[in-house]
Amino acid sequence: MANKGQIGVTTENIFPVIKQFLYSDHEIFLRELVANAVDATEKLKALAASGDLKEELGDLKVRIELDEKKKVLKVIDEGIGMTEEEVDKYINQIAFSSAGEFLEKYKDQIGSIIGHFGLGFYSAFMVSKKVTIETLSWKEGAKAVKWSCDGSPEYEMTSSKKADRGTVITLYLDDDSEEYAGKARIEGLLSKYCKFMPVPIVFGKKQEWKDGKYVDTDEDKIINNIEPLWTKTPSSLKDEDYLGFYRELFPMNEEPLFWIHLNVDYPFNLTGILYFPKLKDRMSVERNKISLYCNQMFVTDHVDNIVPDFMTLLHGVIDSPDIPLNVSRSYLQSDANVKKISTYITRKVADRLEEIFKNSRSDFEAKWDNLKLFMEYGMLSDEKFCERALKFALLKNTEGKFFSFEEYRTAVEGAQTDKDKKVVYLYATDVEAQFSFIEAAKSKGYDVLLMDCELDSHYVNLLEQKLSDTRFARVDSDAVENLIPKEERVKLEMKEDERYDLENMFKAVLPKGNDYYVTGDNLGADEAPILITQSEFMRRYREMSAIGGGMNFYGEMPDSYNITVNMENPLIEKVIAAKQAEVAPQGELPAEPSKDASEEEKTKVREEREAVRRAHREEVEKFAEGNEILHQLTDLALLANGMLKGKALSDFIARSRKVVSDAYLK
Ligand code: ADP
Repeated sequence: MANKGQIGVTTENIFPVIKQFLYSDHEIFLRELVANAVDATEKLKALAASGDLKEELGDLKVRIELDEKKKVLKVIDEGIGMTEEEVDKYINQIAFSSAGEFLEKYKDQIGSIIGHFGLGFYSAFMVSKKVTIETLSWKEGAKAVKWSCDGSPEYEMTSSKKADRGTVITLYLDDDSEEYAGKARIEGLLSKYCKFMPVPIVFGKKQEWKDGKYVDTDEDKIINNIEPLWTKTPSSLKDEDYLGFYRELFPMNEEPLFWIHLNVDYPFNLTGILYFPKLKDRMSVERNKISLYCNQMFVTDHVDNIVPDFMTLLHGVIDSPDIPLNVSRSYLQSDANVKKISTYITRKVADRLEEIFKNSRSDFEAKWDNLKLFMEYGMLSDEKFCERALKFALLKNTEGKFFSFEEYRTAVEGAQTDKDKKVVYLYATDVEAQFSFIEAAKSKGYDVLLMDCELDSHYVNLLEQKLSDTRFARVDSDAVENLIPKEERVKLEMKEDERYDLENMFKAVLPKGNDYYVTGDNLGADEAPILITQSEFMRRYREMSAIGGGMNFYGEMPDSYNITVNMENPLIEKVIAAKQAEVAPQGELPAEPSKDASEEEKTKVREEREAVRRAHREEVEKFAEGNEILHQLTDLALLANGMLKGKALSDFIARSRKVVSDAYLK
């Protein structure tokens, strides 16, 4: 039996084509060959199980043998093998039908799909100058065959002396693929692609330490774990098993918070284990730590088209033969099975979290800080998850106490409902910086939440939409009297020119470059003289644009602050009195020009009026600049907000020292 022929392919030079298109993914050849060997072994086991094959199977293994010197790599199995007809059918004909066309069309995504178009075996040519197959079928009376091909479209088939059932694929490695003739490289590939394949894979011998060095023993070294944890029944497993498997997957990582064992066989088949890692901030998040397997064969680390985006924060393994791999990304996203799988995983994750919330509340609370980023991201990005999570997400207050949304509303409703019947949730983003505001709110009997997560400005908006009749206000967004207005509070009415003087006075001593809106209000004689706040609305939009909310209009505007001057404070009263004494009231303004005055006339009058105002303003500013108490009070307010920096801070310190000296030493 000697048989020569042309592989059934139209493109003359298919091998150069393969090499070129598959360039970036050369290494997957090994996965493809090992997967074929594993398949052939599994098929044999199935035949034995069904009774079609009567012999004793023994301990079936797949072996990888490497001759580093000769640059020859073998993949050997004891599986079903192929008859001559089968080699002709599967290798010569099918594999290459329309291969050229196929490659042209899918060249971008070839890596993940190669195994699913009958091209798996041919990927061997990406790294070889010659490939041979020696195979003996399990079928009775089958004759062993040897197929060989040197990379041209011509192959050769002869009979072979192979006496035992199974297949040996031999690769004569190309000069430019020498790297694969290295033991370490092959070990690396086996560990990446074959670590959990379901048949033992042997590569080399186990080693032992003897006479000061490692030497081979007689025992085969098996590189894979044929029964990874996700294939086992959840009820048979303990926490330690899950933690151990996590360490096996991610030896360098910190222990995970929780895990979920996925296990479903209808309406699709999916198993896997997902772990919740500790998530502290977005920068340190490691994505793409979920590996996709197909019947224990590694497919990819990129599951972003299969699970909702926030799930890619989780770590672990998903194994499903029902995820189509031979399709484009956009098709994948619209695939009905993939959608079902995605929905299923989201639901399972929510189920698990709710279960922990209900049954192990203290554990849930203890881990909340590390879970929060995941929860908030999930709620912000996935409507369904959000609906579920509203039942078990936690709020944490500045004293470290946790509440569910329902619990919190009940707790604060009494004291914190405003005149419009909205429950106002007060929050702080930085306990240190907003200390005095938090204290002021607490002394009024209010509770203050801690919202220090980087997604919180978006999250607060989301919660306002989801929780009915609720409004969020940061503690430092207004004077405590105004945070939760109970009834129409009459604000102090000031005459326009008085307010104008007040504004100019403060603008003269406040840091330049920001916008200030200055008002006077009666906050009580014992309350602070000046309060600097930033409106909730403005601040939130600025923050959102800063983390990519897209509202750049707000992002580019200068910071704007509300300056509330407490007119009842005795120190303020004193400053105002000093101003009245030192600065003459603004002079009479020239009368407005009549309607039918000439343009020239109008401009002239306008300029005259402006000159009177300017003269007065300059006097107010001069007074303010020279007034030590005003400087001191303003700086104290800035200091309370963490806004006093650099030279202003050192001026303040020098001035304070002088004030203290004046008071005690004179
Ligand atoms: P695929 O595995 O995706 O079908 P391949 O090109 O890798 O495509 O293989 C084509 C066919 O050749 C396989 O479906 C199988 O029938 C046969 N085959 C390949 N390798 C082996 C093997 N080691 N043992 C038995 N049959 C094999």
